[in-house]
Amino acid sequence: MSNIIAIVGRPNVGKSTFFNRLVQRREAIVDSVSGVTRDRNYGKSEWNGKEFSVIDTGGYIKGSEDVFEAEIRRQVELAIDEADAIVFVVDVEEGITPMDAEVAKLLRKVTKPIIVAVNKVDNAKRENDALEFYNLGLGEYITFSAMSGSGTGELLDKVVEVL
Ligand code: GDP
Ligand code: MG
Repeated sequence: MSNIIAIVGRPNVGKSTFFNRLVQRREAIVDSVSGVTRDRNYGKSEWNGKEFSVIDTGGYIKGSEDVFEAEIRRQVELAIDEADAIVFVVDVEEGITPMDAEVAKLLRKVTKPIIVAVNKVDNAKRENDALEFYNLGLGEYITFSAMSGSGTGELLDKVVEVL
């Protein structure tokens, strides 16, 4: 089976909150050698009767801004290789940051389906604030709140649609 989605984005946008909402049972971390998988969580999920695997990236990114950038770039490139579709999570509280723009630039070159998921849209006012994410140049986005769960249904509809 190759229904794999990867959740990418800079630190603190809510990737793991979303992952934990999706995934009940985590898979064992397979690789103890390369270090590649240590900073990634793998899990299984299911929506509307369709099963898929989920990769949460960027778990242990620490250090300076420079390290951050190189590491995030590496994570995104790995995700692009490994996954069938990418969920790019951004944060409406912060808006588009330079790092978001960097990730978007990488993703614009990818031919796999990309879903832009604007997180922390906890109330109606934030729906308006989310409009700026059109400027990422990745087309339509979906708004949601990983914390409350609102909008995650629409997001998952989209995920299983593109898989
Ligand atoms: P990650 O670094 O991208 O994995 O982000 P985390 O999942 O660790 O979340 C970073 C912070 O954002 C935490 O304090 C979360 O509680 C918070 N957060 C995640 N989702 C939401 C949301 O939908 N609304 C709000 N207000 N905060 C959220
Ligand atoms: Mg995380």
